[in-house]
Order: sequence, then C-alpha cells, then structure tokens
Amino acid sequence: MRKAEPFKIKMVESINLIPREEREKALVRAGYNVFSLRAEEIYIDLLTDSGTGAMSDRQWAGMMMGDETYAGSRSFFKLEQSAKDIFGYKYIVPAHQGRGAEQVLFPTLVKKGQDVLGNMHFDTTMAHIELSGGRAVNLVHERAYDTQTPHSFKGDVDLEKLEGYIKERGVENIAFMIITITCNSAGGQPVSMANIKATSEICKKYGIKVFLDAARYAENAYFIKTREAGYHDKPIREIVREMFSYAEGFTMSAKKDGLVNIGGLIGIKDDEDIYLACRSMVVPFEGFPTYGGLSGRDLEALAVGLKEGVEESYLEYRIGQVAYLGQRLIEGGVPIQTPTGGHAVFVDAKKMLPHIPYHQFPAAALANALYLEAGVRGVEIGSFLLGRDAETGQQLESPMELLRLTIPRRVYTDRHMDYIADALIAINKRADAIKGVEVVYEPKVLRHFTAKLKPAE
Ligand SMILES: *Cc1c(COP(=O)(O)O)cnc(C)c1O
Repeated sequence: MRKAEPFKIKMVESINLIPREEREKALVRAGYNVFSLRAEEIYIDLLTDSGTGAMSDRQWAGMMMGDETYAGSRSFFKLEQSAKDIFGYKYIVPAHQGRGAEQVLFPTLVKKGQDVLGNMHFDTTMAHIELSGGRAVNLVHERAYDTQTPHSFKGDVDLEKLEGYIKERGVENIAFMIITITCNSAGGQPVSMANIKATSEICKKYGIKVFLDAARYAENAYFIKTREAGYHDKPIREIVREMFSYAEGFTMSAKKDGLVNIGGLIGIKDDEDIYLACRSMVVPFEGFPTYGGLSGRDLEALAVGLKEGVEESYLEYRIGQVAYLGQRLIEGGVPIQTPTGGHAVFVDAKKMLPHIPYHQFPAAALANALYLEAGVRGVEIGSFLLGRDAETGQQLESPMELLRLTIPRRVYTDRHMDYIADALIAINKRADAIKGVEVVYEPKVLRHFTAKLKPAE
C-alpha cells in the first residue's frame, strides 16, 4: 500500500481559485502566454520544480543559525561536511545556483572549438558550454523520444553513438562528457547505474573526463533502487556514492534535490588543479569560495536540505506522488510520457490534439485550456519553446509537443493531484474543440518567456 505524505504541515500559505471570468481576463492580459500570469491569478502552479519546494522545520531552524562571516563561515563548513558525506568528494565549492556553478567550472575545461558530450544537455548547461567556446552534443538513446513505449531508463547515453562519435571527432576535439541525472530535457527520465558506469569506462579508455549535471541526483538514485536489478536492498546513500564514484566532478542546481529555494554546488572528486581553477574563478563570478553567492543562512539550509533529499521516505513520497498523478491521467485516457519521470508528468499534446499543427503550438494551447478550466499553470515544451531557425527564420518543428506538469517538492498534497487530473480528463473529453494559437509578438531571444499569442483563426 502506498503511504501518505511523510510529513505533517506546520505552516500554510493560502491559494485561491479566482472565478472563470477573471481567469479569462488574466489570460488575455497575459497575451495567451501563461509565463505572463501573476502568482495571485494561479491556483496550482506547476511551471517548475526549481526553487519552489517547501523547506522543513529543521531547515528553517538552520536559517536562524546562519553564520554571515564573509570568509570562513561556520555554515560553509557544515555544508562542506554534509556534501562530502553524501558524494564522497574531496572538494566542494558553493555557487548561487546551477548556472553559477556551470559558469565557474566549464571555462576551466573547454578549449575553443571543442565539443562537450552529454546524454541531453539542459538549456543553461548548453548556453554555458557555448559561452566557453564549446559545442554541446546530445547522445541520448533514441528511445528517449518515444513517449508511448515504456523503458526504465530513458535518460541513458547511447553507448554505441558515444564511442562512434569519439572515434569520428577525435579525442583532442572533445572537452569532457557530462551526464545529466535525471535527464531533465528528456522528461526527468533516469540514467541507470550500468549506463553511468559504461559511459565512464568508454570515456576513460579515451582519456575523457566525466562530470555529472546532478540537479536531480537523489531522484535518479531512487529510480536505480526501484528499477535496476541488484539495487533493491541498497540504501540510497550507497547508491549515490556509487553513481558519483564514476565521475570526476559535478555541477548542481541545489534548487531541486537540494530542497532549497536558492543555491548550487560544484564538487570535484580529487583533481586539485581543477579545484584550484574553480576556487579562483568563483571569486569574480560568485564570491569568496566559502560563500559562493549565498548568504550564511542559505548555506545552512542547504547543509540540511542535502541530507533530507536522500531520505528514503521522502523519495518514496516524492516519486510516488508524480507517479500517482501520471496513473490518474492514464486511467482517465490522457496520453502521457511513460513511465513518469522524477519531477514532472508530461502530457503528449500532439496525441491529445492531433488537429492542431505544430506551428499552432498544441501544448501551448493545452496550457491555456488547463488554466481556463482549473487555474492550473503548466508549461509548453515543444515547438513554441524551440523557436525559429536562426538563418531562415522558419518555425522549427519539435519532435515532441509536451505539456509539462512540474511538481514542486513537499508543497502540494495528493488532493491537489486529483484536482489537476480531473481537470485534464475533462478537457480531454472535448479536445476537438480546442484551437491552436498564433504568435502576435515575439522577442529575438528566448521568445517563449515574453511572446504574445492569440487564438488561431
Ligand atoms: C535547473 C537545472 C540547471 C540550472 O540550474 P539553475 O539553478 O536553474 O541555475 C542545470 N541543469 C539541470 C539538469 C537543471 O535541472
């Protein structure tokens, strides 16, 4: 039997469903783009799981103990100890969030014109690779793109593609390999231990260093425990240690499995040169190496959050809640990516709204329909996000049109999940009536954040 949430609630924050007519007005004001809605117009916000989680009483107690010493803060040493215990690495450098860590580490590893290999790079990761003069190459297994066929580890690196690519490009043209766990861009899909190990062995053979983009490392460890043979009886912490043993270092956004609202980390296993390079680079970008852009109280909250993030009861609840929403949707006939990943359920809008062509953004239309129906905000991951060809200006067609329902950690209960599922099931019954959307205004870069849309004719 699935257990209830492994916490009781000590503090509450009111949320309010504004009436339908007001939701209609809000959506018009937002230019039919849910990014432009305001918090008070939203009942349940599934835009992202990044920095949106709830902290525990222990984390809040830690905040009061935060030591704001500029250099040598007590709170840093607590965080360092906590991170060393979990990852087994020698060197830990804090950063203000994941992209801060990327900005510090990547330029120390990339020479101009080199490739950085990965399963599927996250967008800020790709941006920082390019800013360092490199090129991001995705080598995820093809099955990641097939939403309807279940597989336990859709985030896996395609090992044949990896070795083929290294041989063809030449090791001198490859800066390093970074495995994203879980694979965010493929729907929070996990990477198996066998695949992390095999990737590391191939890379070792060619002298290529392996790093982890570890934002959701604890969720990945839980999937290994529950889905990979030989790991069922292993404690999460042991699985985490093994995962990190195959890499030389990591960058991490602590806003996910670190269970804090802001924070990031760089970890280096034992390479002193890389550590010293990071330690000097962190100063101009993030701050002195014992605070890295965070206040003492943030460091303290993260020291505690890291430990809570690898607790088995927490992970069972976390992954279980996402799977529960997925199960309700499947039972109600709503097509989703299966199996569900760690942090979100992805609704297959291309399947649900086959009458809307890619250039009228089916998943953006579905996001609007869900907001109007229920005050729930999801986010489009499809052609609207992908944008236009840089040279021709033509709208690109994404292989998938997904509505991401991203679940914040420890924030919503299963009753909220039921409400979300009921709304989507109701929409699915009259899916033919939903119209596509067209762009009326868009900025040149990252248009999806601020573009204005209208219902298609
Ligand atoms: C969130 C995230 C990042 C970037 O981290 P921020 O804290 O948002 O800067 C990098 N990689 C992955 C996989 C992420 O999920």
